[in-house]
Amino acid sequence: MLSFTAQAQKVAYLGQVLHFTGDPSQATNPQDAYQYFEKGALIVDKGKVVKVGIASELDALIKQSKVIDYKDKLIIPGFIDTHIHYPQTEMIAAFGEQLLDWLKKYTFPAEKQFSDKAYAKDVSDIFLHQLLSNGTTTALVFGTVHPESVDALFSQAKSLDMRLIAGKVMMDRNAPDYLLDTAKSSYDETKALIQKWHNKDRLLYAITPRFAPTSTPEQLTAAGQLKEEFPDTWVHTHLSENKGEIEWVKSLFPDRKSYTDVYDFYKLTSDKSIFAHSIHLDDDEVATLASTGSSIAFCPTSNLFLGSGLFKLSTMKEAGVRVGLGTDVGAGTSFSMLETLNEAYKIIQLQNQKLSAFEGFYLATLGGAKSLSLDQYIGNFETGKEADFVVIDWGGTPFQAYRQSKTTSLHEKLFVLMTIGDDRNIHATYVMGKKQFEQGMAHPATKSL
Ligand SMILES: [Zn+2]
Repeated sequence: MLSFTAQAQKVAYLGQVLHFTGDPSQATNPQDAYQYFEKGALIVDKGKVVKVGIASELDALIKQSKVIDYKDKLIIPGFIDTHIHYPQTEMIAAFGEQLLDWLKKYTFPAEKQFSDKAYAKDVSDIFLHQLLSNGTTTALVFGTVHPESVDALFSQAKSLDMRLIAGKVMMDRNAPDYLLDTAKSSYDETKALIQKWHNKDRLLYAITPRFAPTSTPEQLTAAGQLKEEFPDTWVHTHLSENKGEIEWVKSLFPDRKSYTDVYDFYKLTSDKSIFAHSIHLDDDEVATLASTGSSIAFCPTSNLFLGSGLFKLSTMKEAGVRVGLGTDVGAGTSFSMLETLNEAYKIIQLQNQKLSAFEGFYLATLGGAKSLSLDQYIGNFETGKEADFVVIDWGGTPFQAYRQSKTTSLHEKLFVLMTIGDDRNIHATYVMGKKQFEQGMAHPATKSL
């Protein structure tokens, strides 16, 4: 554990350093979109990036610093998970259903328990440890309908100094009574949580209606009003995941021309609005997301697990809609962004397209930061950005080490990493320049189980 005195001093992390400066899929030459320093250095001071570059060219700075040499390990910006549900941590891998039955059968009963603050604290602790042990340093997170769930998560994230966006679910119909709020109570509780947590340290608030079918028009109006009163908060919800869900939205909102139009009508589209899934959108809906600057969270493992469909990444890029990657645990089957990239590649392959490893790692870092409008703080190693980073062991297992020994290019190394890598590759995770996870580190919450 780093002491306060160690943190107060410049630290030079040596290793193979990679970060993105743009979207490789939009660059004429992918090399213009990233910087890779095989013998690199990342200099950090007071939790911020001072400089990144070739170690031999940063000699003077390194001499003034404490040196931590990760040798041939890879140092990259922390992964960014743009859509995840922390209360579903305990019900990942629930068998056999598609979205609407899966919610009824598994999700709602699991979420019931989060009215208990001690329970919410325990799960928050396990959840955040899972993020960090998978190299994820920022996430956009669903709580439950209970304000206690958000208090517990933010308290724990604050103690780790994480940049986290979260919110209390707003849900006033089409769910069991024990999980319902009202338009009025959801407005009041959300407002109180915004005032308590938004912009406290690195924490940020997202107004979080679960999805259109579980909110009355009155509640969506209240959500839109909150966004108007607190314009620098985020909006986080689900959109167009499953065909049955889309039909349901049509029947509940017959006056709206599409699912996306429901959110747009209630003033919930914006450059800080993130719509998870967005799989089955028509051209008008894509145009609405683009013109309002809204973003999409692409959740490959969840889309495959619930049989929801194949996300059209290239269509969204062509339309200029920002996209980040989400694990969507617990419909998603892994906290690992490496495993998420593995499934993303397959989803793109099924549409006769390719997801390069460069584009994949861009999406998991700077692309995610851009999709959350957080790229002025995180996403790469530009001077002054917050020093959230991951140290990756290319050979997380003996077999991976063997496979990596046969690679001949950076792209091939990264592609092998994203295809067969997982949490065993995460050697250490740093948040604001402080090591919060190291391989083999015992964790108090899971130890006591
Ligand atoms: Zn979700």
